[in-house]
Amino acid sequence: MAPGAPIGSIAGPLHACQHPILRAVLAEQRPLIEARKCDTYFQELADGRTLAISHQPTEEAGWVATYEDVTERRRVEARIAYMAHHDALTDLPNRALLCERIEHAFARAHRFGEVFTILYMDLDRFKSVNDTLGHPVGDGLLKAVADRLRGCTRDTDLVARMGGDEFAILQIGAESASDADQLAERIREVVSAPYQVDGHSVIIGTSIGIAIAPDSGVSADQLLKNADLALYRAKADGRGTHRFFEAGMDEELQTRRLIELDLRKALTAGEFEVFYQPLVRLSDGAITGYEALLRWHHPERGFIPPSEFVPIAEEIGLIVPLGEWVLRQACGQAANWDSAIKIAVNLSPIQLRSRDLVQVVMLTLASSGLAATRLELEITESVFLQDNELTLSILHDLRGFGVRIAMDDFGTGYSSLSYLRSFPFDKIKLDRSFVRDLGVRPDSIAIVQSIAALGANLGMTTIAEGIETEEQMERLREAGFVEGQGYLFGRPQPVRQLVTQSARNGAPRAA
Ligand code: C2E
Ligand code: MG
Ligand code: MG
Repeated sequence: MAPGAPIGSIAGPLHACQHPILRAVLAEQRPLIEARKCDTYFQELADGRTLAISHQPTEEAGWVATYEDVTERRRVEARIAYMAHHDALTDLPNRALLCERIEHAFARAHRFGEVFTILYMDLDRFKSVNDTLGHPVGDGLLKAVADRLRGCTRDTDLVARMGGDEFAILQIGAESASDADQLAERIREVVSAPYQVDGHSVIIGTSIGIAIAPDSGVSADQLLKNADLALYRAKADGRGTHRFFEAGMDEELQTRRLIELDLRKALTAGEFEVFYQPLVRLSDGAITGYEALLRWHHPERGFIPPSEFVPIAEEIGLIVPLGEWVLRQACGQAANWDSAIKIAVNLSPIQLRSRDLVQVVMLTLASSGLAATRLELEITESVFLQDNELTLSILHDLRGFGVRIAMDDFGTGYSSLSYLRSFPFDKIKLDRSFVRDLGVRPDSIAIVQSIAALGANLGMTTIAEGIETEEQMERLREAGFVEGQGYLFGRPQPVRQLVTQSARNGAPRAA
């Protein structure tokens, strides 16, 4: 009998059928026969086959039924249903199945007040694995990650692949946020252990966004979207970490995307300007230099502070051309000033990742005619978190040409002191949080005194940022600080304002 073909029709008396399968079929039919009803239904047979049965009474008190073997058709249908709900590469449930399960979980949440969470994760820098080792290794890695995820979740949890290098985990019955927190920790630990794929060792990190239902969403779509927003936050906070969704993230992200789009156009549109803030010698109040501070005048949003756009410019790679532009502007301006006046320019850690920086600085100095010794480059200790050797050799080269190197925001990081030993800085800029603490925290005087002494011993100039009051200035001077910077001496200002000032107090003077 061909699969799918009718196995025939039987009419009338029941007792004529002796075959065990037919007996079972007819036993199932008996209630219909007796009630003289029609019906269509499926019957699973003892030999594993499935019949589609259509039963109908006839006018002469008899009945007619058709029996179709639908075993193969059902197998194919089941396969299709499986494929529609699973990912072919990893065999994990896919987004469709996850969404169905989330809707079930919502139903239970309504009925029993259960809480559940969604962890949305993606692999950090997966693209570079694909690009450098090839797609087969990328695929192998995804399978291995899927296995580990299955291994570190409970049977009641559901691990799904959302596409690409994104996975999601539905955690049912989480008691509290700390359960989700623990699972996220475990996943990060398990996923980041080294892999062997096709003879390559691969290491990959993961970032995770977490949304807790029903607080963080009332539908599967909303919950996934919010977990994704939290993931975006985790990545923006430096990857390899996890974040919970919080109200307001959506708006934050929209703003960020808009800023990102506008930022790409801002340099050519001429929306940036460099402001200058005086650096003052504390012993006599003379201006020794200016710090160049970047400003963005957004055509609609108005002024956007560097703390908001510099991190985005770093992320999208714009900081390199932007930083070069600041350098050209600042050196070009300073070249017009009195030759005793220095110019300080901030460098992003991203600019220090390429040796090109040395050439860029040398060319800028040459074309502006500014002496290298008048340029001071400010770096923060985060530059040392990257490739230390490359960074140090770039800094040594720059210093070799006479450029001065300052450590900015000193004291805010974990190991400011140890970095002082790794490079002969010319200047230490004490972070303004210490200045703010003066007169507030009892130990603050002792701290600034010891930093001033340290600078003196190491032959590094010390400068304190954020001086706003006479009292702060006095204390810093007494503690031994050489220079100061802050609103007390002058706010960052456009260059045209400096020039009008110079007519009054003599600095900066046009050459
Ligand atoms: P920073 O290099 O530590 O600059 C000092 C910041 O303190 C400036 O903020 C300045 O306006 C502010 N400031 C100065 N005096 C006072 C004061 O008395 N009180 C208070 N409360 N603040 C004071 P700004 O201009 O907003 O810049 C913030 C940061 O953005 C800078 O910190 C620097 O890290 C970064 N930045 C600015 N321009 C550039 C640039 O051209 N390139 C790079 N990579 N980063 C830049
Ligand atoms: Mg600075
Ligand atoms: Mg600073």
